[in-house]
Amino acid sequence: SIEALGISKRFGDFVALEGVNLTVPSGQLTALLGPSGGGKSTLLRIIGGLEYADAGEVRIDGVTATDLPAQRRNVGFVFQHYAAFKHLSVYRNVAFGLEVRKRPKAEIRTRVHELLELVHLEQFADRLPAQLSGGQRQRMALARALAVEPKVLLLDEPFGALDAKVRQELRDWLRRLHDQVHVTTVFVTHDQDEALEVSDEIVVINHGRIEQVGTPDELYDQPANDFVMGFLGPVT
Ligand code: ATP
Ligand code: MG
Repeated sequence: SIEALGISKRFGDFVALEGVNLTVPSGQLTALLGPSGGGKSTLLRIIGGLEYADAGEVRIDGVTATDLPAQRRNVGFVFQHYAAFKHLSVYRNVAFGLEVRKRPKAEIRTRVHELLELVHLEQFADRLPAQLSGGQRQRMALARALAVEPKVLLLDEPFGALDAKVRQELRDWLRRLHDQVHVTTVFVTHDQDEALEVSDEIVVINHGRIEQVGTPDELYDQPANDFVMGFLGPVT
């Protein structure tokens, strides 16, 4: 599970997050949804240890992580723009985290092939990242993030740079992947449809405050306020 409790963060005089509470039960996929500048990435970075809060606590699987750096939190990240080792094959990119951890070669081989199968990239193992499409690269990034069996997966607009058709495909695919892997996941998006389709629960954030938490159906049927209604409602 992820618990971010009473999180506040300022940049100078600007209040980016104010007393935010976010809880993601183990195995759940929660979408963090809101307009640009609302504080989504800041909250995700605080959960992952890439940024520190001014106040509040972060717990991962019940253990306080508030002061731990990112590499000790056992989290997997995927960002909008993929990060990959350009000169390493897809296989080596996915294997990297396991090699660093000095896992046995045979174990690495088995694991990487499983992961490539999971993200449907088996036939691309020997390619370089530059020889993949944008959607394939993001799938590789997910395989890399999952390789070291993170306790939580943090996705910041992972499909944001892709065209609408590929986004739709990856959205469906992520849902199926999550049904197989069940890793506790926060999925940041400013796209209402994406949040409604992909997630078990949606947390709506705006101006550094949580506006509403609920299942997609609850939010759609009973928006808590005008902001949520306007944000989720049909575009006119
Ligand atoms: P987007 O959908 O555009 O990615 P977001 O919801 O992820 O937006 P954040 O990146 O969390 O928003 O930013 C929240 C607010 O905090 C913004 O107004 C942003 O300008 C500000 N902010 C974020 N990081 C910093 C920083 N390092 N220094 C100063 N201000 C920052
Ligand atoms: Mg952001």
